[in-house]
Amino acid sequence: MRALSQVFLTQILSPVLLPLLLTPALSAQRPATWRCAHVLAEDGVSWRDDVVVTTILDGVVSVQPAADAAGVDRDFGEAWMIPGLIDLHTHLLLRPYDERSWNDQVLHDSAELRVLRGAKYAERTLLAGFVAVRDLGTEGAGFADVALGAALDELVARGPRIYPATRAIVLRGCYGPAPDDPKVIKGAQTVAGVDEIVAAVREQVAGGALWIKVYADYRHGADGPVAPTFSLEELQALCAEAQRLERPVAAHATTDEGIRRAVLAGVRTIEHGAGASEATLQLMREHSVVLCPCLAANEAIVEYAGRKGPIVSRLNAAKVGFQRALAAGVEVACGSDAGVFDHGDNARELELMVEYGMTPAQALRAATATAAKVLGAGDLGTIRPGARCGLVVLGGDPLADIRNLRKVRAVIREGDERAPR
Ligand SMILES: [Zn+2]
Repeated sequence: MRALSQVFLTQILSPVLLPLLLTPALSAQRPATWRCAHVLAEDGVSWRDDVVVTTILDGVVSVQPAADAAGVDRDFGEAWMIPGLIDLHTHLLLRPYDERSWNDQVLHDSAELRVLRGAKYAERTLLAGFVAVRDLGTEGAGFADVALGAALDELVARGPRIYPATRAIVLRGCYGPAPDDPKVIKGAQTVAGVDEIVAAVREQVAGGALWIKVYADYRHGADGPVAPTFSLEELQALCAEAQRLERPVAAHATTDEGIRRAVLAGVRTIEHGAGASEATLQLMREHSVVLCPCLAANEAIVEYAGRKGPIVSRLNAAKVGFQRALAAGVEVACGSDAGVFDHGDNARELELMVEYGMTPAQALRAATATAAKVLGAGDLGTIRPGARCGLVVLGGDPLADIRNLRKVRAVIREGDERAPR
């Protein structure tokens, strides 16, 4: 563990979006004080009014009424302060598919090029108020997410805390480019049988993965149906090895059987998840498995297709799946699948959650307290003494209108203790 004495303030001046970086505006050891008319309370559903937040190095020291503060370093006036947001499903090594197809990126773009883009995307993500991301697969860029996270640690670039999953694991023959052609390098690590599954988990953890991502179902072959990939026993072997190495597992799964097997095997989160039956949703609830619905990526893919053709049905399926999960009491966290769409546009996930039936407070919780819990990061997600959550200053009340998350005036993120790698 090492503390970085980074203190920076990025301020976006309206109407011209001009990020202002003060690094380090405040000396490393001196407490910094920030006043805001409204600061999100620990309950996540109410505001503490006229408050001064004091930070030092990488932590919140106190949250107190402004009258108690002798003077402040920065007064934001009528503004709303929330803890830094968390996105549990990003791909910083991908650019939006309408700019360049997934196939072309994986086949033709070098890892070096993709890392340089990733650094830019990381900064955009941070400036949108997202201080931590779980990056769920480099899609053919090897262990570049680990390298990117290390570069951010070194302050070579600015960005969120990264929880990398490295290559991701998929059944051989089920992932592009050219699933049926073994000569073509794939966008994930392809395996078959328990021995290869276990070896892949070990390799990825050795390479720096803090999470294991597995595809519990996928298309079989280039044009085949979406169906479960691994047997329950194989998924159990994967989860057991990950658990032995103290790494939680995230499962891409869209079919009922794929989701069911992943949940029974012991994964922590289901990604996408729209196809779960009532019985499987109950199973998720019983096993405290969290759903990351990736609504924003789904919307983007339909938009790229011109909102026409059979693909449009995906919109309703995702919406209905999400609503059924909510009604079943499944816990939902923010996982947007950014990379399919623009990095920095991550808040779209929360806007869709509200459009599909969550309250703004529930959606905000999905990207703060709930996401922090999934990461096992007790220091993220709430503004309270001892937290290292980052502070986001907004020009509007997100509990009144979730779209106010787009009105980022400042992101205050002090030096950060990264997870050990
Ligand atoms: Zn993804």
